[in-house]
Amino acid sequence: MWKNWAGNQKCDPAEVAHPSTDAELAAVVKGAAARGRRVKVVGSGHSFTACALTDGVQVVLDRYNTVTAVDTENLQVTAQAGTTIADLNKLLWAYGMAMPNLGDIAYQTISGAISTATHGTGAKKTGIAAQVIALDIVSGDGSIISCSPTEEKEIFESARVGVGALGALSSVTLQCVPKFNLHAVEEPLRVDDVLANIDNHVDNNEHFEFFWVPHTGWALTKTNNETDEPSGGQSRWQFFKDKIFMENILFGAVVKAGRFRPTAIPRLSRLIPSSGRTEYVKSSYEIFASPRWVRFYEMEYAVPREHIVEAVNGVRAAVKDNGFNIGFPVEVRFTAPDDIPLSTASGRDSAYVAVHVAKGMDYEPYFRAVEDVMNKLEGRPHWGKLNFQTADVLKTRYPMWDRFQAVREKLDPAGVFRNEYTDRVLGVVS
Ligand SMILES: Cc1cc2nc3c(=O)[nH]c(=O)nc-3n(C[C@H](O)[C@H](O)[C@H](O)COP(=O)(O)OP(=O)(O)OC[C@H]3O[C@@H](n4cnc5c(N)ncnc54)[C@H](O)[C@@H]3O)c2cc1C
Repeated sequence: MWKNWAGNQKCDPAEVAHPSTDAELAAVVKGAAARGRRVKVVGSGHSFTACALTDGVQVVLDRYNTVTAVDTENLQVTAQAGTTIADLNKLLWAYGMAMPNLGDIAYQTISGAISTATHGTGAKKTGIAAQVIALDIVSGDGSIISCSPTEEKEIFESARVGVGALGALSSVTLQCVPKFNLHAVEEPLRVDDVLANIDNHVDNNEHFEFFWVPHTGWALTKTNNETDEPSGGQSRWQFFKDKIFMENILFGAVVKAGRFRPTAIPRLSRLIPSSGRTEYVKSSYEIFASPRWVRFYEMEYAVPREHIVEAVNGVRAAVKDNGFNIGFPVEVRFTAPDDIPLSTASGRDSAYVAVHVAKGMDYEPYFRAVEDVMNKLEGRPHWGKLNFQTADVLKTRYPMWDRFQAVREKLDPAGVFRNEYTDRVLGVVS
């Protein structure tokens, strides 16, 4: 029995394969297709949706995680699909390189991250999939197809965010940047003030995000800007206090208390760390990604950036009007547009609103109320985070939907990479 990180998705695959080469991966797909079995590749299991579930052949990437080429002149790296972002970060840094932007953890595989359009924050920065400049994918009949902007362009465009439905990514090449430090400033501000000045915050910082603490008027803001300054300002003790004790151990205890007594959550929320301004400099990857020990369920929506104030105020009103007791901060981030058909930022400057509840709690009433807010604002759900959408609705939110489906039809006409999740959110291959 396999289960995901949050423990809300489980499956019992008929077979499990651990390929270590492209040829082995292709043979697994070909063999499964010949036996009429479906195939699903699983990364680190950090998606909350059923996207990685299968009752057919589960392809586990734990032996498929080698970095196969590093080009320090052009700042490019090629890695097997199962390489984790954490491993990539350390290796790139040793070569004087870094990924330009990351999400807030690094446990994911590179292929899992790009397949669901994983992103960080920064109005001029795209998500991770837009950093991909070439990839190899194994299609439904077991063929390995190499693609890039100059080779099999149409497949390349769509396969960067494939939701696991186009084939099995075997390797990806990323465009990196010279390694850089970030100057981080973390500061609690009144949420109404943040929203009133949102464009200043977002446009005057390379990476801006905030967490509104439900049941309070506070937002915990984070700004990160590139700097030539050396690392400093956060001792090991301070790192432990802020990132391990406050954000994981103390926060975990508050969350546990809230699960035990939900009506106490509004009072407990006032304990969520807001200890004043902190400022420090560190390597980019250490600042972007943090340890996450407290397990939760999450939904996240991308809306056109111009709707962000409405979106956040809509969530605030939904919490208040429905009397929800919410113990997790609501995270708000921003990205630049990209040109990937099923990227949540496809063709539009985007803002993201993410809502969470503790593992084991009933998320449905809150998440449905948030989804109602986002539906009115052309919201696109994160493919790896909980949602209740169907393909009929989602196709109206992605102008390049049909291009994606044409590539799907070409690469996987027999639906080898289908599962219940892809049937629901992408429709069945015709
Ligand atoms: C604590 C936590 C923090 C997170 N923070 C962020 C964040 O900051 N920003 C953000 O955008 N998201 C975030 N996420 C979501 C996460 O980045 C995505 O769900 C991501 O897809 C997880 O990667 P994974 O390797 O675990 O992939 P999995 O969840 O295992 O798989 C995801 C999908 O990719 C497919 N897939 C994986 N590998 C391949 C392959 N080789 N070929 C084809 N398909 C493949 C799977 O079949 C599945 O459909 C977070 C999740 C958690 C649990």
